[in-house]
Amino acid sequence: STTAAGWNFDNSYARLPKDLYVRLNPTPVEAPKLALFNRPLAESLGLDAETLAGQEGSALFSGNRLPTGAEPLAQAYAGHQFGHFAMLGDGRAHLLGEQLTPDGSRFDIQLKGSGRTPFSRNGDGRAALGPMLREYLISEAMYGLGIPTTRSLAVVTTGQPVYRQTPLQGAILTRVAASHIRVGTFEYLASRHNWEAVRTLAEYTMGRHFPELLKTEQPFLAFLFAVLDRQAALVARWLQVGFIHGVMNTDNVALCGESIDYGPCAFMDSYDPATVFSSIDHGGRYAYGRQPAIAQWNLGRFAETLLPLLHDEEDKALELANEAISAYPQIFRRHWLTGMRAKLGLFNKEEDDSELLTDLLSCMERCNADYTNTLRDLALETFPGETIFQDEEFQRWHQRWQARLGRQGENIQESRSLMLAHNPAVIPRNHRVEEALTAAEEGDYSVLRRLLEVLASPYEDRPEHDAYRQPPPASACVYKTFCG
Ligand code: AMP
Ligand code: MG
Ligand code: MG
Repeated sequence: STTAAGWNFDNSYARLPKDLYVRLNPTPVEAPKLALFNRPLAESLGLDAETLAGQEGSALFSGNRLPTGAEPLAQAYAGHQFGHFAMLGDGRAHLLGEQLTPDGSRFDIQLKGSGRTPFSRNGDGRAALGPMLREYLISEAMYGLGIPTTRSLAVVTTGQPVYRQTPLQGAILTRVAASHIRVGTFEYLASRHNWEAVRTLAEYTMGRHFPELLKTEQPFLAFLFAVLDRQAALVARWLQVGFIHGVMNTDNVALCGESIDYGPCAFMDSYDPATVFSSIDHGGRYAYGRQPAIAQWNLGRFAETLLPLLHDEEDKALELANEAISAYPQIFRRHWLTGMRAKLGLFNKEEDDSELLTDLLSCMERCNADYTNTLRDLALETFPGETIFQDEEFQRWHQRWQARLGRQGENIQESRSLMLAHNPAVIPRNHRVEEALTAAEEGDYSVLRRLLEVLASPYEDRPEHDAYRQPPPASACVYKTFCG
């Protein structure tokens, strides 16, 4: 039942096999202070935003006080990090519980940066303010763009320093997710040969995210395909807005299909599939254009954990898993084409659409064209000078596209509306993100608040959006991101 401030917790994860978590409370902090609070999100969760925006919020979102009904725990998981298997787990996070919302949904409420756990290894269990603000900003930007994502309810500063290369302000993020079940959660149980628990977790995950599959004839195969489909859809959406996750390790793949773990992620400016921002991604493993292939590799690791559930005979199980993973490129391609057709204002399908799309992308790459702006300008029919729009090859492409638009029932106005709804005017550009975070770290949150506001309606053309559409100045082009 609903309690003060609207908390309405259930703790179904805490009822799963004990292997999957360790119960423990967050470590209290000295001087919690609410830095950011997401009122609309709080309200959609059925929480009392008015109460939580004050002292109560500082106490709760720091872990100093527990919401009624919370049963905090750190989740166990493993994962392949840059291709190598490791035992991990929440080293600095506490799942408080699952909020049951007025509309009947269930969301994990998790604190990140809330203290050490048995999974902390050498870590301090804490987080610095900059990276927590970054996660808040980027996750809310993704939400604004309409991309499945975990969300951010609050950031609290702790009043305690964290020591990285230098002392930094400590902070805690409250993350909201459909669930935090990862490919790595399954890998953890499978690596311990705890097949009984794999089955239980698979059924639990289906119950939360794919309940309709529980009654099918081969539920675990259906589950594998459903997860494949959600990941394909998600990565297609990332590519369509120029998003680079940066650290697509299997522990950062959420089975609910939400983008999760905003560490070294960033958005691409000029189109180049080889774009990498993360300072630790030396080999370009997680480069923009490699994301679909990496997702398939990650899903292969997931499929392996389900083998004993897919068939009693090992050979048959392998065959089924291989079939599913081999189908992935087609599934991804279908999602990618659907989204890209919308970006070009296409309602119907033609055989050559794929070529039309890749030809535009090649042209952008050769011209060093800004990915977001080129597409938005195509939608707006504004053709700035001295850009890709003056390129001869582009002009030939433009004629082909115009002819293609003519071969569908919908008129040009309908195409334009479709394009404007699928090509954002604004994305969180790196130089804007840095500017906002730097000011906030110095105590001025106004730049960050303004950016958050702009990014809440990225498909609208407002005069105040113009400044945020500019690509970075040349000096800001060599951009590096770091893990939090
Ligand atoms: P990530 O690279 O963010 O996916 O994190 C990888 C692993 O490192 C996870 O198990 C985290 O819980 C853990 N971790 C990251 N930072 C810390 C920290 N400061 N203290 C303890 N564990 C951490
Ligand atoms: Mg992670
Ligand atoms: Mg991280």
